Amino acid sequence: MKNWMKALARRYEETRRQNPRQKLLVIFDIDGTILDMRYMMLYVLQLFDREHGTRYFENLDVEELNIHENQLETFLVARGLSDEARETLMKWYEKNRWAPSAVMQSHRPFRGVLEVIRWFQIQPETYVALNTGRPEFLRADTLRSLNALAGEFRVDFKSELLFMNPSNWEHDIVLSKVAGIRHFESEGFKVVAFIDNEPANLKAVADADPEQNILLLHADTLFESHPRHVPAHSVSGKDYDLVSLIGEESLPKHVQFVWQGVNDIPNLRQFLASNITWGEMDLRMDPEGRDLILRHDDFYEFPHGEDESLSYFEPFLASFEKGGKSLQIDFKEGGPCVDRAIDLLEKVAIPEERLCFKGNLHHLEERGIRLLSAAFARAGEEVLGPLGRLGRESLRLELGPGEKARNPRADPSLGISRRHRGSPGPGSLPASDFILARCHRLGFQLSSVVLLWPRGGGGAELSV
Ligand SMILES: [Mg+2]
Repeated sequence: MKNWMKALARRYEETRRQNPRQKLLVIFDIDGTILDMRYMMLYVLQLFDREHGTRYFENLDVEELNIHENQLETFLVARGLSDEARETLMKWYEKNRWAPSAVMQSHRPFRGVLEVIRWFQIQPETYVALNTGRPEFLRADTLRSLNALAGEFRVDFKSELLFMNPSNWEHDIVLSKVAGIRHFESEGFKVVAFIDNEPANLKAVADADPEQNILLLHADTLFESHPRHVPAHSVSGKDYDLVSLIGEESLPKHVQFVWQGVNDIPNLRQFLASNITWGEMDLRMDPEGRDLILRHDDFYEFPHGEDESLSYFEPFLASFEKGGKSLQIDFKEGGPCVDRAIDLLEKVAIPEERLCFKGNLHHLEERGIRLLSAAFARAGEEVLGPLGRLGRESLRLELGPGEKARNPRADPSLGISRRHRGSPGPGSLPASDFILARCHRLGFQLSSVVLLWPRGGGGAELSV
């Protein structure tokens, strides 16, 4: 069976080749295509229990809800609810399933679908439209709830790219789907593909497009109409797999972990024993301003404790060099701190490709940046200005499981950050989004992301 995301990728490329300057559009249905309606059902059923003091759905698992949202009654029969209970429940369900609170709280996207949408949204002259059987009066709620889900993927759904059923609920849906496609064509879009879970909708669009200009994709989730309606030339699929869509070659090839906070002996030991190549040290001058030391916090806010032993940069640098490690220096101060660091770095034999600098513009100042770039022209470099990034586009990922992520210093060994060295240009953006989305799903807290343009080579150590 053909992979539907690969089919979509091929069709998109082909359409772009044939229409180099036209606005391209990929059209998605919402319910059962972007949103997994089983979560809506679960939410509404359990809300019923809560509001009525019943326990019909106490231990219900979402996996058990293997029915279309319009066929709930069949499910209730199978669950052994009495006629009377079913009637009360169905009335309540119909009344409440589209209540704004349910729409906001119960809707969940299928895994991967928002990454796919994001990928299209950031391609040049490419748009994603929604074509739904939901009636017009749900426009504001629909946009609000979808955008709430989409925010973390930086997906944005706009009203002008949302076509809703002009008739009432469950009326003329197939006609409305065709009308939606016609509407977007009349707005000057070239429709690349239409994705829907209902076979009847796909059939209606197929009938209206005998030339088969539009690729039809069947989201093989839960649907109501008969599968025989799935047009022969459509491609079915379940998984929104970005890798199939954009191809392995477009994914980040140079993803690397950076071990943060290699500022003390225990961390240095763990880091040297690990298979992680990049380690980050926080560099500043000691309280007397004589020597370079490793310390995240400044002495003004966190004074030097009586029992605090200082870690000196020079022996740590030697360990990095001996261990074949790469070094990222976070300059916490400029001026003499930069001068001294350059002197010491020039003494050791760490190749420039294995050096990377980072610092706040306030600390480094123009002088510090110029000195570093002149001394190490091939090293990666990143400067954070007061309002964000200066110079290269950059993002920073700070990863740490659960609670620890909020206070990485509580356990620096968990405060590993990940650096993605992608290629400059639009191609690397989806790659970083991909990492973001993946990390988020893995349960990591993300504070920021750094994306450094590569200088020179560097291979993948770990892929996400
Ligand atoms: Mg649908």
